[in-house]
Amino acid sequence: LDTDACTMCGRCTAQCPAHLTGKPLDPREIVLKVGEVMARTGDPATSPPIGVDADITVKADWVFERVQPEEIWACTSCKACDEACPVNIEILDKILDMRRYLSLMESNFPTELGGAYRAMENSSNPWGLSQSERAAWAGRVEGVDIVDPGDPFAHEYLYWVGCAGSFDDKNKRVSEAVAKLLARAGVDFAILGPSELCTGDPARRSGNEYLFQMLAKQNVAALDGMGVKKIVTQCPHCFNTLKNEYPQLGGNYEVVHHSQFLEWLVETGALDLEGARLEDRLVYHDSCYLGRHNDIYEAPRRVLGRLGGVEVVEAPRNGTKGLCCGAGGARMWMEESIGKKVNDERAEELVETGATRIATACPFCYIMIDDGVKGLGKEEDEVRVADMAIHLLEAIETADRAQAGTPTFIAEARRSELAILTPESEGEGDGGRAALPPTTG
Ligand code: SF4
Ligand code: SF4
Repeated sequence: LDTDACTMCGRCTAQCPAHLTGKPLDPREIVLKVGEVMARTGDPATSPPIGVDADITVKADWVFERVQPEEIWACTSCKACDEACPVNIEILDKILDMRRYLSLMESNFPTELGGAYRAMENSSNPWGLSQSERAAWAGRVEGVDIVDPGDPFAHEYLYWVGCAGSFDDKNKRVSEAVAKLLARAGVDFAILGPSELCTGDPARRSGNEYLFQMLAKQNVAALDGMGVKKIVTQCPHCFNTLKNEYPQLGGNYEVVHHSQFLEWLVETGALDLEGARLEDRLVYHDSCYLGRHNDIYEAPRRVLGRLGGVEVVEAPRNGTKGLCCGAGGARMWMEESIGKKVNDERAEELVETGATRIATACPFCYIMIDDGVKGLGKEEDEVRVADMAIHLLEAIETADRAQAGTPTFIAEARRSELAILTPESEGEGDGGRAALPPTTG
């Protein structure tokens, strides 16, 4: 019924990344079309949206004669429309409801998405790679404990790595960086390795509720069986699902995103930034699922702003108005063949800030923005795109090398390579162990 409140101001459409890049999606039109159908078929009857002829001449008892599937599948679920709407119409929820109908009732979804569904069903991750490879990255970091789901959980934190952090080459480096930073700060953590399944986020966001629940219930059973209480994750999609959606299935955990956790470790002194510097101009790209979906905007900026030498600048569209990378809403698993690519649009804006480093806080943003920046012909030594944990670790390890007197040319050669050795401070008792940080901002 909230469609009735639409003032047709168009603010939602003005913020929509799909619309801005030429896709057949106009959120205002979605609201108006749904409103027209409601007006015609609702019981009790409702008034049509302002400016819409009450006497609808098209057959309006079937919403998909008014809204085309192409519109629905173009959405990145970035929530920019909801954020912009002055009368709080829940536009994204309507799109996701329609996706659920198309996916579950009509099996009407983009062909490529079928591959991701099969991979999640058969391999428990959308990459379709073997679960036995999940913890391969951990072999390059000393001392990462992989727990057996049959045993009680004997650590303070479960580090939920996520599928991207486990299987995507760029993001495996993020996992290494996060693990090294946690170890360096004396955090008592472990990973699930092959026993961690996809949270089901891509399935739910694309309407496949059946597949989402299948994966989520298995994860909840494993986590509850082990007695896991506290989870830290580097993926805003995992974060959102574990924190906000698993309680619907009985899974209740204290979940923090790595940006919040790293901020807390820095604030409490567990992670020492003495001498850590980046002589760079840096711009942070807001993740939709961290920002608009969970209201976390400042933690990544505050952590990176604590580094010496760094100049943190903002893109024109930032914070609540940040432009999506184009991968959300399971768009990561669909072709983008119409209009300009959303990640190209965003990469141009970020590069135009003159930044020499771009920081992300989401594995999908990392992939999309890095691809966009490389597509502009910018190489690693001109614009370094990486997750905030990688930037942070590079600054800390550069300080380590400077302190140890490593010649500059060796330090430079290592700039884009994360060091393999675990910091000497790893495992130095429990003195620096952190309790759970605050979960907002
Ligand atoms: S959620 Fe984002 S992509 Fe989807 S309609 Fe709203 S603004 Fe457009
Ligand atoms: S922002 Fe809200 S009120 Fe304005 S057109 Fe969009 S749905 Fe209607």
